[in-house]
Amino acid sequence: MTKQAWFGRCIFLSWYCERGTCNFCFRSTIKHKIRHAEKAKRSVASILTDAIIGKNLGWKIEFLTGGYGISDFDKIVEIAKHVSEIYGHKIWINLGVLKKEEMEKLAPYVDGICASIETLEPKLHDSVCPDKPIEPYSEMLCLAQELGFKTSMTIVIGLGEKKEDFELLADYIKKHKLSQTTFYALKPVKGTPYTESPEPEYYAWWIEQTRKRFPDMTIMAGLTPRRVDYVKHLLEAGADGVTKFPAVAQFNSEKAHMIEAQAREAGREFLGSLTKLPEIDWDREVEKLDLDSDLKQKIKIKLNQYLKRMQKKYVHSTKRSYGTNIPVT
Ligand code: SF4
Repeated sequence: MTKQAWFGRCIFLSWYCERGTCNFCFRSTIKHKIRHAEKAKRSVASILTDAIIGKNLGWKIEFLTGGYGISDFDKIVEIAKHVSEIYGHKIWINLGVLKKEEMEKLAPYVDGICASIETLEPKLHDSVCPDKPIEPYSEMLCLAQELGFKTSMTIVIGLGEKKEDFELLADYIKKHKLSQTTFYALKPVKGTPYTESPEPEYYAWWIEQTRKRFPDMTIMAGLTPRRVDYVKHLLEAGADGVTKFPAVAQFNSEKAHMIEAQAREAGREFLGSLTKLPEIDWDREVEKLDLDSDLKQKIKIKLNQYLKRMQKKYVHSTKRSYGTNIPVT
């Protein structure tokens, strides 16, 4: 049977984070803080529109995510409930360090909890994430397992880690019995100390070593939207799927086609589509949800806006144009 590969879509709840001090993160830049100091939350209609599109395009949901201190927790639980209803199964979340009561509230809709560890070498971690220590995440992962959740972590490659640090990563996966690890290649953000992404070979090396050590764990590989020409390499190194691609904004672009083509070249069946809209009655998809009519109306309007953009890209792309590059998330 042909091995599969897929696109994992993160759904953002907010662009805001009250920590805002991790030195590689766009939320740490002065420009971002000025722009989003107060209101950076997405509307519920926009979040659910993302979920409806993702589900119908066959994109797996990577997790619901957002910075620290983004919203009243009951509101987050309500959103998780709606997103899991749209997908028809429980989902994953990555929302910082959660308390036991918070995890219990999420349990009917969530089956996996992700910790954004970023990097594991202790001194490097202290300097990269001064207000986001590893220990509380480790305690959360242990508690999450006791409560019956699956667990995962995210790791950023290119922050200054060394190949010798691989054992720290392997030990952490083993100790916390993670069922998934998501790697990201650092994307340098203007206003942070970083200016370069890691070389694709070096990035793939981390995935390859992790796959060798953990043959059964799910491994996801984040892309840097500027380049997607190393998808084949990442899948051959052992990634199960790719993530962190602006799939709505770049729908049916040459990059989207390249991701699908490279998956095929790597001998994988690519689940879902980054290039072709399904012919379905989108309004019906909204109507069948258990939501109030006002929210349904707002979702239909958003959905229409998103689909128009995705459709437009379709026309551009057939003329071999890259189109615009405005990220939706
Ligand atoms: S906690 Fe997460 S969202 Fe907040 S600044 Fe750090 S990396 Fe960015």
